Amino acid sequence: MKILISNDDGYQAPGITALYEALRDVAEVEVIAPEQNNSAKSNALTLHSPLYVHRASNGFRYVNGTPADCMHIALTGLLGYRPDLVVSGINNGANMGDDTIYSGTVGAAMEGYLFGVPAIAFSQVEKNWAHLDAAAHKARELVLQMSNQKLIGDSAWLLNVNIPNLPLDKLGHVKLCRLGRRHAAEPVITQTNPRGETMYWIGAAGAVKDDADGTDFHATTQGHISVTPLKVDLTDHDHLGYWAQTVARLTARG
Ligand code: MN
Repeated sequence: MKILISNDDGYQAPGITALYEALRDVAEVEVIAPEQNNSAKSNALTLHSPLYVHRASNGFRYVNGTPADCMHIALTGLLGYRPDLVVSGINNGANMGDDTIYSGTVGAAMEGYLFGVPAIAFSQVEKNWAHLDAAAHKARELVLQMSNQKLIGDSAWLLNVNIPNLPLDKLGHVKLCRLGRRHAAEPVITQTNPRGETMYWIGAAGAVKDDADGTDFHATTQGHISVTPLKVDLTDHDHLGYWAQTVARLTARG
């Protein structure tokens, strides 16, 4: 098995080292990750400046680009082969509900998925790296179980996994979940720079709005590991009928 690893916290983050150490003896593992923190970069690609790849002393390769850049150049030429699995993380903080739209961790995994490779995004729920060893242990266990069940093959899928920051013996079950929802983000924060100009800082993510039973928020609050299969098609399939009538009326009125 060949596994390609990336993240959005940068190649020096504790989470990617933990993931690499957890998987290095179960597969041939390559790490290609951003040089800097790239949180909230989603699937952004760098189109108007060149990308450079360097190798760190530990063997990891790092790129002056986004998580999706890393996977994109890896899968379209740099790697020279198709990996069996793309794994992203372990992220410093939750990627649940609406976070998945913005997440660079999910973006790296999604880029693998878009190129037809099965992919998993791993995140720890809290942002303090507490019990990272337990999260890495669970990531390894999940990859091994999926490999044993022949789920890592030719067909692509995309899983989003969030792991509570708990010691191994306190971690609950792996639970299949849907994404919850957050309220809209907190207000922008404004400050004045030394030249009297206004600076705007993006505010914090919104509080949880839907954490009903069955959501990733609910499962992780109970100490369980949430697993959510994601898709890329943003079409509002539920309302295609409604929009068919509405759009037909618009067209009729010309
Ligand atoms: Mn991150």
